[in-house]
Amino acid sequence: MRQLLKVNQQRMLQRIKELSQIGKTKQGGVTRKALTAEDQAGLELVKKWMVEAGLTVRTDHAGNVIGRREGTDPNAPAVLIGSHIDTVPNGGNFDGTVGVIGGIEVATIIVEENLQLAHPLEIISFSDEEGTRFQGGLFGSRAMVGKATEKDLQAKDENGITRSEALKNVQLDPDLLATVKRTTEQVKVFLEMHIEQGPYLQSVNKPVGIVTGIAGPSWLSIKIQGQSGHAGTVPMSLRNDPMGGATEIIQAIEAIATKDRSAVTVATVGKIEAFPNGTNVIPEYVKFTLDLRDIDLKRRDDALHDVKNAVNQICEKRGLTYDITEHLIQDPIQCADHIIQAMRKAGETIGVEAPLMISGAGHDAMIMSEITDIGLLFVRCKDGISHNPNEWAEIEDIEIGTSLLLETTLNYMKS
Ligand SMILES: [Zn+2]
Repeated sequence: MRQLLKVNQQRMLQRIKELSQIGKTKQGGVTRKALTAEDQAGLELVKKWMVEAGLTVRTDHAGNVIGRREGTDPNAPAVLIGSHIDTVPNGGNFDGTVGVIGGIEVATIIVEENLQLAHPLEIISFSDEEGTRFQGGLFGSRAMVGKATEKDLQAKDENGITRSEALKNVQLDPDLLATVKRTTEQVKVFLEMHIEQGPYLQSVNKPVGIVTGIAGPSWLSIKIQGQSGHAGTVPMSLRNDPMGGATEIIQAIEAIATKDRSAVTVATVGKIEAFPNGTNVIPEYVKFTLDLRDIDLKRRDDALHDVKNAVNQICEKRGLTYDITEHLIQDPIQCADHIIQAMRKAGETIGVEAPLMISGAGHDAMIMSEITDIGLLFVRCKDGISHNPNEWAEIEDIEIGTSLLLETTLNYMKS
């Protein structure tokens, strides 16, 4: 049996620290919004590390930074590893970053060991995953699968600068966006390592987990229309109060999502508004959002169906009318079975038991599944906190995740 390759924990820790200085905020977080000076300074570091790793580096016209090492077979499709280093405002130091730094570490080890492997390897730092500057995330990966649009290019930031202008400002050409697209033939698999951004791994006391699928969010808004009136003069028996209806519906939504305890349906009403929003006025209407997710498409659709039934029944009973708007219905994505198995085997090789789990959040991997088989690996993060200066992952856990990523990558680069 060959000796296990060891990733360099100190090097990764040093790089995480170095990147955390770029766009650093007073609160101890970082702000690196896409295509800003901070984002570009971060990417300069990433490029430097890629060059140090012996990779050939280029930036495509969506702003994705790509480091590549050729394989021994010139016609073999590439193994891709990617994540992002852009952040939300005052974000944390691990979201995305561990995937890029971990990927570069994998490449560094392979080059240092001078391993002769059939398939090329590419490490990608995706452009604008977070979407906080132009209100549309996952831009780089969407461009890579040919799904970025003119609307993306014309989207403006808070200063009225379009994404198209922002790309030109960093010497990229938005007219060449189509050249960013990769084909299924060029790619063997896509792998991503990311912090969990949830509390599961901490609760089961495991450093890493293997994701089996990504739950697709469904975003709806539900408007309940009633009869406005004076809070003091309209007797309770004569009211068509949409607030009463809304609260009953919200309780029904919670009951629907918790009905089957073994299931992983999650439903959230995160935003609510009343009109005219006065202390002494029975509202004319109440409007609230629903974010409903599940890893299983049928179960997700069944839950959506149950919610719509509940809205209908409750409104009918209370003499209210309603309007349901679907803003986004994204189907769940399955990670490839063969990659899940390869990751389990990699876990055995390095002596780590990585539980199977699902992802409640979307990542670049979700988009890349349009053109190739994907695998997603989660690293435990403290208390499940992310998008916050308190976001934290232990370097020991990141090391284990990177070792697992390295073994999985080797498996796919060999043949
Ligand atoms: Zn992320």
